[in-house]
Amino acid sequence: MEQYGVTVWFTGLSGAGKTTISSEVAKILRSQGYKVEILDGDTIRKSLTKDLGFSRADRDENIRRIGFIANLLTRNGIIVLVAAISPYRQVREEVRQTIGNFVEVYVNASIETCEKRDVKGLYKKFRAGEIKGFTGIDDPYEFPLNPEIECQTERENLEQSVEKIINKIKELQVSNSLSLGCQP
Ligand code: ADP
Repeated sequence: MEQYGVTVWFTGLSGAGKTTISSEVAKILRSQGYKVEILDGDTIRKSLTKDLGFSRADRDENIRRIGFIANLLTRNGIIVLVAAISPYRQVREEVRQTIGNFVEVYVNASIETCEKRDVKGLYKKFRAGEIKGFTGIDDPYEFPLNPEIECQTERENLEQSVEKIINKIKELQVSNSLSLGCQP
């Protein structure tokens, strides 16, 4: 199967649902024979970017390195799912421009909801004063102004969020194979 490479970039607060949605999307697409790679911020920070901290410069560098890998995979026909907070607009735009085949997904849940979920216990650690510079509380989160997709995870369930993304990826597969077919 000829595959159209694309990077689907999930941005949102910690606990908004990026990992949950991207893993479900990957599971479904793989079961249908697609080649999919996930670049998850939590995993990447333990390997590729373990030397980086959480200053703006380091957060941007984290995103640039993830974008670099995403670009290599995308141009080789892989569907790349990036799940990373990616709090700053400017560097998100930069990776969008570099990669080209890029779909931004805003995984949107309020900070209150994310704190209630507290999947990784990070909000608790923040409240206990153990960590500082927490995105959405005492560090900025710049929400996307024109994301291709928004998943409002407080209002929609996982299946609804996943469906939107799968539909978009499939749409791109179809329109790309049509445009390739039209070439002389
Ligand atoms: P992130 O990767 O953005 O930090 P996670 O995916 O680790 O967030 O955690 C999101 C939490 O929210 C999970 O416990 C998940 O079960 C829950 N959740 C509730 N509703 C949704 C939804 N519609 N989409 C995704 N996650 C949801």
